[in-house]
Amino acid sequence: MKIIRTIATTLADLAGATAHAIALNTHRIIAIPPAELKAPAPLVMTTSVSHEIMRTVGSQRAESGGMFGGVRGSGTVTEYHFDTTAATTGATYYPDHLFLNRLLREDWNPANINLLGFVHSHPAGSRRPSGQDLRYAQQIMDGIPELDRFLMPIAQTIPDTGHFTMHGYAVTRDKGLEQLDGTVLPARDPVDPTRFLEFDRVRDAYDLAALAGARIVAVGCGGSRGFLEEMARCGVGEFVLIDPDVVAYPNIATQHVYRSEIGMAKVDATAKAITDVSPFARVWTIRAGLDDTITDAAMRRLVFGSLPGPDVHVPTSTLLCAFTDDFYTQARVSRLGLELGVAVLGGLVYHQGRGVEITFSAPGITPACIRCATAGRYRSYLEQGYRNTVSSHGTPFYATARLNAAKHQLAIGLLTRLSRVRDVNHPSVPRVDAFLDAVAERNLILIGLDTEIGTTLGLKLFETAVAESTAGVLAADLALYRPQKPDRPDSNGYPTCPDCGGTGDLSDCVGRLGDTRVLPTSVISERSA
Ligand SMILES: [Zn+2]
Ligand SMILES: [Zn+2]
Repeated sequence: MKIIRTIATTLADLAGATAHAIALNTHRIIAIPPAELKAPAPLVMTTSVSHEIMRTVGSQRAESGGMFGGVRGSGTVTEYHFDTTAATTGATYYPDHLFLNRLLREDWNPANINLLGFVHSHPAGSRRPSGQDLRYAQQIMDGIPELDRFLMPIAQTIPDTGHFTMHGYAVTRDKGLEQLDGTVLPARDPVDPTRFLEFDRVRDAYDLAALAGARIVAVGCGGSRGFLEEMARCGVGEFVLIDPDVVAYPNIATQHVYRSEIGMAKVDATAKAITDVSPFARVWTIRAGLDDTITDAAMRRLVFGSLPGPDVHVPTSTLLCAFTDDFYTQARVSRLGLELGVAVLGGLVYHQGRGVEITFSAPGITPACIRCATAGRYRSYLEQGYRNTVSSHGTPFYATARLNAAKHQLAIGLLTRLSRVRDVNHPSVPRVDAFLDAVAERNLILIGLDTEIGTTLGLKLFETAVAESTAGVLAADLALYRPQKPDRPDSNGYPTCPDCGGTGDLSDCVGRLGDTRVLPTSVISERSA
């Protein structure tokens, strides 16, 4: 009797503990107010970098300095090297270029660490970069087009002022000198997903360590709700959700939402589901649409940066997703992918869910961008005044589920292949690589769900694709990965793509598109390779 009571008590305790743990998941969900995205991205550095600066630059009289390293685009300083051989005087600091270049070339760059800026000290009272400092930063940025901004905080030292302080500044391409808030936090220890029983049966199916460090940035989380939840089930560790809407009754039949979520913001409902699935995933929610108030700099921070939370963490790969049926938002996300040099995935449901479409692009993987693959649609919208009238009315849930399922393999493949911590000997590599290699030059995917799609939507390609190979076989629920070449007269005969320039190497585009909010209708000038 006593034993039974003990067991009952233990079970009750366990139940209580579980409920408690799930309630605590909210610490892994962080809302970013849209207004916060208007401020320049803060200067984020690890506690160890900050201590090291204080121990070196901060502990001797001005001027001295050191170099900042981290993942390009993240604005997050994880590496620091004190420049012991610089030519310094009481009023100037000239970095030792030969030594620092060698450090970058031989140590940092092979480890995917890029130059992010310099910290240097000024004499007491001089807390801003000088004109000479600005010219120096400009020279470096001219030489590195991918560098979006050059971090240049100014330190006041203990011997000069009695205290060590750092004043955050960056030189940006469009705004010149910007003052930055600073954040100093400990670096996050990498998550080891294999220690969670949740992923015990898929440890050979995916490179779990690569996915645990990966980030999905989803513009829209309505129809894609199921997909996002499933990505948590695959072990993806970071999610940024951008959506202005709330869950409404009609969403029950068309999206993966629940009655208990009616009235909740879609970003909050999705975040709750993700943290209920994954024992470690973190979610940042932005309750807004991707409109023109969200700048490219803000998107860069969401894609690469260390986001608000208890520690400094930079994603090991990122997939930027256009999960909206608004053409202009999709077009902006595609351009953001090119400008930032990051993989993009988009999905679309056709009229009455009779077919679905997936597009994707990734520098170094797909030669064509999404605009190359869907140039006809761009022309319809931009030149023929087309307006989208397709809504989710009359769309069976099956179409949404099918679209979400078809995105899986691409998302996992892109996040793994592009991961900085990818294990090339992982058992999943041959399978993932074979799939990505096969689809890289076929980045427009059409899935016909309707056996009469040739007459209902006028899409004959499903019938012809099968008729050509196998007589008598019915084409139903068929996915066609359509071959794509970059749009350029000498490539496929089409006019040059105004977004990627049609060079066949999307990494050419990084940092060269200008403001992605402006959608060009034609090629303004040939971009140099
Ligand atoms: Zn200076
Ligand atoms: Zn293109």
